[in-house]
Amino acid sequence: MLGRLRYEVESESMNEVVKQVHSRIRSLKPYTVREVGDDIIKMDKNENPYDLPESLKREITEAAAKRSWSRYPPIVASELHEKIARYTGWIPEGVIAGNGSDEMILMILMSFLGEGKRLVVPTPSFPMFTYIATLIGATVVQVPLNDDFSYNPDALSDAFLDGGDLLVICSPNNPTGGLFPLDRLEDILERTTAPVIMDEAYYEFSRVTALSLVEKYPNLIIFRTFSKAFSLAGQRIGYGLMSPELAVEIGKVKLPFNIDVFSITAAMRLLENTGILGETIEGIIRERDRLIRSMNQIEDVTVYPTASNFILFRTPYESTSVCDDILRDGILIRDLSANPALRGTLRVTTSRPSDNDRFLGSLSRIMNERGRG
Ligand SMILES: *Cc1c(COP(=O)(O)O)cnc(C)c1O
Repeated sequence: MLGRLRYEVESESMNEVVKQVHSRIRSLKPYTVREVGDDIIKMDKNENPYDLPESLKREITEAAAKRSWSRYPPIVASELHEKIARYTGWIPEGVIAGNGSDEMILMILMSFLGEGKRLVVPTPSFPMFTYIATLIGATVVQVPLNDDFSYNPDALSDAFLDGGDLLVICSPNNPTGGLFPLDRLEDILERTTAPVIMDEAYYEFSRVTALSLVEKYPNLIIFRTFSKAFSLAGQRIGYGLMSPELAVEIGKVKLPFNIDVFSITAAMRLLENTGILGETIEGIIRERDRLIRSMNQIEDVTVYPTASNFILFRTPYESTSVCDDILRDGILIRDLSANPALRGTLRVTTSRPSDNDRFLGSLSRIMNERGRG
């Protein structure tokens, strides 16, 4: 063993090497989210508040323990692809699983984009698409949503058909919750062979999918994830559904062994037990609707429609300070004010009934105090 290294590179030579990191990367702001301790109720990341049942976790751990940990996982997680195919109704040859759908985003963007290529995205939307496109030197064309945060299909369609190389639509959109109309998606697909991604990370809550269109339009790719409704954010599994021919090409971009033995096991066991999730998901949807009704009754709170497990809302106050006030009550929600288009807005994820009650109590107290102050 070496003794503890003392890192004393002169600052000048360090700057020299840092300068050699690609300018695209140096100009990016690190992607971060606020981290808090376990004593805080987390309603900020759109996760499922319910962990998997203890018995299923044990089953997964035992199944993973039976596999050799000294051996690589399969190069392609074909068994998992089979199970995803059965769950979605798609064909296994058209499934690719990734280390979270974030890795799917990376694979697809690397496959279609690069310098001089144009990604068309609505804004505000999930920032990872713009982040990765910037990383790989593509040009990002951002198309604003309507003032009420609903999609503007005409504007998006016009921007894409005017030389776009890839279009990404999150439906339901994160962080706004709105759906993109499927008939308008089909209009776009009728008019171009350029690739379109529908990110359906919240499909299990919205129950709206464009999957049936993939058969007719091989330039359509669907993304889903195990991180939200499926309670597996900690295991990092996402997947893409696409034409088998396209899957062959995208498969070349995927790093070998990209999903570890444990995550593959967890995802497969979960797909054999989706029954246990049905009730949880129903419950979350009911709670979300209760949250919306109650938030609508709080003075100064404006709630935007959502087809997901989270709710975007606005208050007349500066959202960072509202978020901090709610955190002082032990609840973390997402302050979205970093994006100028979202100034004044916050996003809250539906949690357990008792958590939701605490959030409602906190929000109404804070609005009440500010209203009087
Ligand atoms: C959460 C989220 C993802 C990322 O999912 P992972 O599978 O955890 O990487 C992708 N897209 C959208 C729209 C999301 O909200």
